[in-house]
Amino acid sequence: MLDSFGRQQCAGIKRDGTRCTRFVTASTSDRQTQSRSTTPSPSPAKKRITKAAPGSASTSLAPGSGLALGRPGPGQSPSSENEDDLGIAPDYCFQHVAEINKTTGFILPNGKHISFSMYIPSTLSARAQARLRTALSTPPTPTDLKEQGYCYVYELRDRARSGREGRSNGSGATACFKVGRSINVFKRLDEWRSRCQSADPILRSFLPAQQGQMLLAGASTASVPGVRLSRRWERLCHLELEDVGERVNEECKDCKSKHREMFMVELQKGGYEAVLQIVRRWMHFVQIVADAY
Ligand SMILES: [Zn+2]
Ligand SMILES: [Zn+2]
Repeated sequence: MLDSFGRQQCAGIKRDGTRCTRFVTASTSDRQTQSRSTTPSPSPAKKRITKAAPGSASTSLAPGSGLALGRPGPGQSPSSENEDDLGIAPDYCFQHVAEINKTTGFILPNGKHISFSMYIPSTLSARAQARLRTALSTPPTPTDLKEQGYCYVYELRDRARSGREGRSNGSGATACFKVGRSINVFKRLDEWRSRCQSADPILRSFLPAQQGQMLLAGASTASVPGVRLSRRWERLCHLELEDVGERVNEECKDCKSKHREMFMVELQKGGYEAVLQIVRRWMHFVQIVADAY
């Protein structure tokens, strides 16, 4: 759960078996702060986290704390698009991030061993790696195991940003993508178009699909059945994408909802190809897990 400042209580469990009392705020800018050090810092960090003012800009904490403050935003309703039926992904404080990242893998019910390093890129922040480890290890829900779904990638060209010259950090040309799951890709696009007029989504791809899948709504249909565990698949994609790129978190001017499935990804970091590679890798993962049940 998020508090009124958009902060989330660490989902970690302390050695005495009780829930960790630290609060963490998601921020795309904590990537650098986190990767600098994963060394837990003493208690001052906790005080400063809980004093975060609503709407404050991302501010680094004490050096080595491994945490940063984000932009909470009052009245945040993170699931306004209802895109994530699994609820909000658990988040963790620096200490539990370090703790979780010590585990190297897990074993599926059919005995198959999954090594985290096979799927989770080491280039991601420690926090993203911990959240992905948790999402990978969580047992599937019955609905998710039963339903067959697709993950789609739309590009929103009107939201792309051109690069600014002379600045080295985070100012490269950036494309905007919407990545989500659906049991009917073309119907989903239609729904979105009728609800929000502000963007012109172009379907770049969906998976699974055959080579040469046509992507024109009204003239195309999916020729391959969807895959099970598509909710898990979507969550994994989102957790990685918000670390590789930046999750769009403002309220939309037109439809007043937060398009939380949208991500800005720098072309320098691969743009569309990088997004597709992420979606494909997590599809392979959920297929392996689904086969084990
Ligand atoms: Zn914690
Ligand atoms: Zn909108």
